[in-house]
Amino acid sequence: MAPVPETHPDTAPPGPDPGDAARDEERFRQLFRGHTAVMLLVAPDSGRIVDANPAAERFYGYPRGELLGMPVSELSLLDQRALAAAREDARARTRSQFVVPHRLAGGEIRLVEAYVSPVDTVAGPLLFAIIHDVTEQVTAEDALRALIERQRLAATVFTHAHEGVIICDPEEKILDVNPMFTQLTGYTREEVLGRTPRVLSSRRHNAAFFRGVWQAVAADGRWEGEVWNRRKDGEAFIVHLAITAVRDDSRVLTHYIGHLSDITLLKHNQETLERLAHHDALTGLPNRTLLADRLEQALARSRRTGSTLAVGYLDLDRFKPINDLYGHDIGDQLLIDVASRLRRTVRAADTVARLGGDEFVIIFADLKGVDECELLAQRVLDVVSAPDAIRGEPVRVTASLGLALFPDDGATPDALLRHADLAMYAAKEQGRNRFHCFEHGSETPVRGNRRERDRLRRALDDDQFVLYYQPKVDLRQGVVVGLEALIRWQHPERGLLGPAAFLPAFNACRLDATLGRWVLRTALAQRSRWFDAGVRARIAVNIAGAHLLSPSFADELGEMLASHSGLCRGCLELEIVESTALVDLDRATAVIEACHALGVTVALDDFGTGYSSLSYLRRLPVDTVKLDQEFVRAMSGGANDVAIVKSVVGLAHAFGRHLVAEGVETAELAALLVELGCDIAQGYSIARPMPAAAVPGWLAAFRPDPAWLRGSPAAPESPG
Ligand code: C2E
Ligand code: MG
Ligand code: MG
Repeated sequence: MAPVPETHPDTAPPGPDPGDAARDEERFRQLFRGHTAVMLLVAPDSGRIVDANPAAERFYGYPRGELLGMPVSELSLLDQRALAAAREDARARTRSQFVVPHRLAGGEIRLVEAYVSPVDTVAGPLLFAIIHDVTEQVTAEDALRALIERQRLAATVFTHAHEGVIICDPEEKILDVNPMFTQLTGYTREEVLGRTPRVLSSRRHNAAFFRGVWQAVAADGRWEGEVWNRRKDGEAFIVHLAITAVRDDSRVLTHYIGHLSDITLLKHNQETLERLAHHDALTGLPNRTLLADRLEQALARSRRTGSTLAVGYLDLDRFKPINDLYGHDIGDQLLIDVASRLRRTVRAADTVARLGGDEFVIIFADLKGVDECELLAQRVLDVVSAPDAIRGEPVRVTASLGLALFPDDGATPDALLRHADLAMYAAKEQGRNRFHCFEHGSETPVRGNRRERDRLRRALDDDQFVLYYQPKVDLRQGVVVGLEALIRWQHPERGLLGPAAFLPAFNACRLDATLGRWVLRTALAQRSRWFDAGVRARIAVNIAGAHLLSPSFADELGEMLASHSGLCRGCLELEIVESTALVDLDRATAVIEACHALGVTVALDDFGTGYSSLSYLRRLPVDTVKLDQEFVRAMSGGANDVAIVKSVVGLAHAFGRHLVAEGVETAELAALLVELGCDIAQGYSIARPMPAAAVPGWLAAFRPDPAWLRGSPAAPESPG
């Protein structure tokens, strides 16, 4: 460390007349030594003290000998990085005033205001600091400590935030940005200082948009929304932007702070999800969801124009043997071929959709009459049955096609599809490779036969069904938040059956609501008994979409709630399964609102599987979505699937819904979910569904697994 040459007047060696520079230096030195203000000279690179005046010796309590060569960091409570940045600012003259806590020789901490500017000396460029003790201005010691802590915290949050942060003055001039801002926008701090955030303007919003933004900030002190910006390299990106106006104690505007987070990826995933949700993955044709939309639109048009519309239900003949004989690859290829031939055959205004398997639906729009419909139907059958070769194999299929016409054969999408389906079966029965038009009187009220219906009813009457319960756990808090009722059939001959073995039969016999009522009654009675025994967990009951839409659903639910003791608001949640059956979303919305009025919350089950998808999330006022098991399971598959789950979590949060993950089979998946922001989970790794009698014992023995919180440092160690 090269000390500044000693040139006190009394010790300066006599010599030739010093030049102008030396005279300036001498004057500065006199001022420095004689001034009553605390002054330091600091080396800009090392941050060491090069000289200190007598006032500094008195203030800090160190003799000059100790101060010389001492790093400023021994006085200042700022960290090394912050100090280096401050020195750099002072050297470049971008900032000259700093308020920082300094520690004196005796350990006492004082808040000082330092004015720092660069000076040229014979020993080279130095920083000259004048220091005022401003501690007295901050009265209480506590306030001082809080201020120090806040400053340190704010500085850390600022530099390490995952969001870009911009700080502007009241004229919108940028005063500071953090490193994440640079990462997001490509602009360095120096490039934007003094400019306004308009450097990011993408021209995708007009002036009125920004006027609205600033009006909102002025009125509410805050604005939040999505904004298209442009990076330095010209690429457009979308951010979630939150602007806050900062005012001092006397309500004077001092700063604007903007937080930016990049949601380009989220948007992109959202679009992918939308596409997945509306199209069949194998053939790229519209799926059932999109078909429902298109059919509604086509019907509306026909109603307006008075034209005829036909719904064709097409099923390939003997597709299964082909699949078995040639293998699934060839089978898939055949479906892709059929799909593209169908698409080429129909007219531009028509729609071809795939329902799954070898079933397709065609909407023939704007028909002049039955004759034209029959002509088109025959053309479709001819195209499907044309000889084909797949990878050298000659393959030939035929199809059966059922037709239902609007307005003669039905007025709603549901009725038309059902009738076309029945007509398709008739075409099969008549020998396949043909079309058949729906005939009134041929419809049976239900698909299952009478005997089957009676058998199911009797099993219900005989009390052959039981409910098992599976806990839902808040992984982060380590507490049980609910119990889902899952139905089982204690079959006299076949033993204990899972729902997959019998729910389709209930559905085909239109007994969804009958079964659902039994489940609700049984679960509510169980909840009352548990309540009396001190078990307070919320019960979740699965409700089929068709049952939810049945005419008196909410009234019946209200009566059931009233007839049980120990039931409170929020103690019951309905999980809508088979949400495809929610053909009428307006009605579904009304029923869900009626449930809310009864204090019952509603979840959308199996979210993410094509059917129960984004349109439901957007349009239904559900409280919670349950992430489908397949999604959760796929997460162990790789980064892509994790990214999708992450964006689903983001979407659910964006729409203000709670999120539950089901099918969590390992503690690793649980930890990953916590990390992604999904805290509530259900799955074999926590507990399998169990009989009601086992629940109290399980609850008493429940301990959260510390492994759930691995990778989540902010979470508490191990509660409970
Ligand atoms: P869900 O409502 O999505 O229920 C979750 C299913 O996943 C249950 O199957 C549960 O036993 C199973 N599960 C839970 N954790 C795990 C796990 O970690 N790994 C795996 N592989 N599976 C797990 P379950 O009981 O067979 O029920 C199947 C579906 O049947 C239910 O799916 C629900 O859609 C329906 N269901 C069940 N009970 C009722 C009911 O009372 N009424 C109606 N309408 N449907 C019901
Ligand atoms: Mg469920
Ligand atoms: Mg589910």
